Amino acid sequence: MGERRAMLLRKELGIATMRDLLYYFPHRYVDRTKVHRIADITEDSAQTYIQLRARVESVGIHGDGRKRRIVALVSDGSGTAELVWFAGLRGIEKRLEAGREYIIFGRPGFFNNELSIVHPEMESPAAVQKRPSAMQGVYGTTETLTGVGLGAKGIYALVCTLWELAEKHIAETLPEPLMRSEGLMPLREALRNIHFPENPEALGKAQYRLKFEELFGIQLGVVSQRVGRLARGDGFVFARVGERFNAFYNGHLPFELTEAQKRVLKEIHADAVSGRQMNRLLQGDVGSGKTLVALMSMLLAADNGYQSCIMAPTEILARQHFATFRRLLGDLPVRVELLTGSTTAKQRRTIHEGLADGSVDILVGTHALVEDAVRFERLGFVVIDEQHRFGVEQRSRLWTKNRQPPHVLVMTATPIPRTLAMTLYGDLDVSVIDVLPPGRKPVKTFHQRDSDRLRVFGFLRDQIAAGRQVYVVYPLITGSEKMDYKDLEDGFNALTQQFPPPDYHVTVVHGRLRAAVKEENMQTFKSGVAHIMVATSVIEVGVDVPNASVMVIESAERFGLSQLHQLRGRVGRGAEQSYCILMSGDKLSREARERLSAMVRTNDGFELSELDLRLRGSGDLTGTQQSGIAFDLKIANLGRDSAIVERAREAALAVLNADPALSDPLLATMRQRYSAKKEIDFSLIS
Ligand code: ADP
Ligand code: MG
Repeated sequence: MGERRAMLLRKELGIATMRDLLYYFPHRYVDRTKVHRIADITEDSAQTYIQLRARVESVGIHGDGRKRRIVALVSDGSGTAELVWFAGLRGIEKRLEAGREYIIFGRPGFFNNELSIVHPEMESPAAVQKRPSAMQGVYGTTETLTGVGLGAKGIYALVCTLWELAEKHIAETLPEPLMRSEGLMPLREALRNIHFPENPEALGKAQYRLKFEELFGIQLGVVSQRVGRLARGDGFVFARVGERFNAFYNGHLPFELTEAQKRVLKEIHADAVSGRQMNRLLQGDVGSGKTLVALMSMLLAADNGYQSCIMAPTEILARQHFATFRRLLGDLPVRVELLTGSTTAKQRRTIHEGLADGSVDILVGTHALVEDAVRFERLGFVVIDEQHRFGVEQRSRLWTKNRQPPHVLVMTATPIPRTLAMTLYGDLDVSVIDVLPPGRKPVKTFHQRDSDRLRVFGFLRDQIAAGRQVYVVYPLITGSEKMDYKDLEDGFNALTQQFPPPDYHVTVVHGRLRAAVKEENMQTFKSGVAHIMVATSVIEVGVDVPNASVMVIESAERFGLSQLHQLRGRVGRGAEQSYCILMSGDKLSREARERLSAMVRTNDGFELSELDLRLRGSGDLTGTQQSGIAFDLKIANLGRDSAIVERAREAALAVLNADPALSDPLLATMRQRYSAKKEIDFSLIS
């Protein structure tokens, strides 16, 4: 192809090589084995595409100017249909011959009870005979490409040409024993069938083979990292459960640990005496008590002569942790310091000294911790809170602060579906806190329409009269930011009218306020002076106001499931019954309705995350900015192909057990190919 089209193909679809094109798969197929009878097509037979074999009875040009069109009348013996073209008239006129028979393909429509097809594809029966496959792939394309002859059909033609050139050069990428044990179709056959399926069964097998390969490649990377880490045996050993841990456990714990907290502490302890470096993901819903687990793990490190640090995503959270630790530890001889962007140079120096001489046991901070000047004497344990806010890069910079890698605990409140965790965090062991501290009542969730607003206000009044506080959250979706702020401002004004001073106090917090004002407004809510806080969805992660018992989410249909669940987690922290009210418009898409009803039905974050993954599919999970995962999945879907993810992981484990060094060149290449693409940005999980 010419340079210009090649350039556009690269720019629009990222296709630069023959291999790229070979791995550019159709997103759907149309079955061209079936020829319909015109008489069988009725208005409610709801066919998306039909194929006719019919003779052209007459061709005519109608209308003038922009209404100019070609209309052809065709018949197949069972009935007649009209074919209409509005564009490319000159070419159509030349090619279309009255009296000849054509294979006609297109979307059926009805006009005056008459079957009609606009812009059908026309081919001679002889040409159709020569097609490589009866199921024709439909390739995604863009408007720009369509403009240069690379519409769906143009790309199909290109793939046909490519196939002739490439077919005999396609070498198998998976080892023979694996192919056999997994019952996989050979690569060449799979690629042929993904582009030109022989039949639906062969297509299914081809898809399976290609999905398996992709997921296996990724698993080979993550599993071999893990096997390597465990084999190195260079983990710090925390052999003692010493005096500070015990003194804390016996004398400072304000409550009994939940069973789940105890289990996770045991898991961490087992790792820390194993001689292998721990890499553990701790999942637990908001309020499940992860911070305490982190603190006690760090005491374990301290008793063994190691320093720890905990990194939080925001300054507010870091301060909150620092205050919590100081309060819980009381007079125990544990030195805790706080390091953030606003730590003064003088304080900083003192902290640096304490880190270097080993007298600081626990350092709490933000990403300021990864600054180069921070040097520990013996960093043994690292905690990363709400990890999705940090990039991999930042994480690994913490690791390198030691010659020997510290144990790492990554904490997240966002439940991650099992298969996603296996893929994103394949190298991590997973612990789960699945029990909330006692006395918490599950949040009750309701879905209300805009038309129910007065009832909702009445409910808020009752709650406020009972001494509770209320959040009202507005979506903030970049792209229409101006509108979003207007929504929020209008909402704030409306609420102030409904809840007027002096009886009520409504406050507001959002990103456009000056830091000082924001802080002040936040304080009026925390201290209980304000009854209602109007905010954007970016209310600080982890903000803790136990007296707030109602979360109203405006335009809830505009939020994703995991975000709704996160927001709901802001209430239900005290002993009172809490409520989450999802406000939406009256017209909802099917998907939005499904999201909202799932929220009403369950509080189970894992169930919601699975559903979220299924609803969004991998279209949203791969390659897109929003997802932030650049696993370049071309065909597998982490939501729908979970069974294949599991099989691929098993297979990767088996292969690595048998051949830890991956001496098989096919496997080495496979790992190489997929690890090069693996770059995770944790923003997916926010
Ligand atoms: P998260 O998992 O969201 O980080 P936190 O660690 O902040 O949760 O804990 C939420 C609240 O629950 C805190 O006020 C904490 O003191 C309290 N808490 C933690 N563990 C327990 C427990 N076992 N029993 C009672 N309250 C607990
Ligand atoms: Mg927390």
